[in-house]
Amino acid sequence: MSIENIKSSIRNIPDFPKKGINFKDITPVLQDSDLLKDSIDILAEKCISWKPDFLCGIESRGFIFGSALAYKLDIGFVPVRKPGKLPYDTYKINYDLEYGSNSLEIHKDSFFSGAKVVIVDDLLATGGTAKASVELVKMCKAEIAGILFLVELSFLEGRRGLSSYPIESIIKY
Ligand code: AMP
Repeated sequence: MSIENIKSSIRNIPDFPKKGINFKDITPVLQDSDLLKDSIDILAEKCISWKPDFLCGIESRGFIFGSALAYKLDIGFVPVRKPGKLPYDTYKINYDLEYGSNSLEIHKDSFFSGAKVVIVDDLLATGGTAKASVELVKMCKAEIAGILFLVELSFLEGRRGLSSYPIESIIKY
């Protein structure tokens, strides 16, 4: 398993989707069967000791890692989605971005009460998205077993707002 190989495949796209953002493009990792498998295997190793009942993935790149991880750990997958996408009864949360605001939703019946949930996304930046997802899981009366990322932009200190939970990431910048 080579974390370095995964890291060197992540492509930097300057000024995407807007000026000043250095976008970490993970599609070259997904494209390569060895890197994709290694990424899932390493993420699974990081969270297996948290003994989750569910994997919860954040739209949309969190779905890619989350569903593969759920399959590997033999547990169910729950999506956190952008507003208006989930068809049944939902909880909704609004949260602030650097510029403007955003919303996320989860189905109210996603978990059994007290279920242990691991949240996964491709990348931790400021932590706002993960924090909003934590709140949604808690609204469903489930517990956060941990939060998992492929990539962490450490200089943005997203962990600070999530410090009450176990957090793991594979690749740090
Ligand atoms: P944040 O809420 O600031 O932690 O942002 C995390 C979310 O935005 C994740 O779903 C990421 O996929 C996406 N994101 C933020 N910054 C970047 C970046 N530099 N490259 C790729 N994705 C990013």
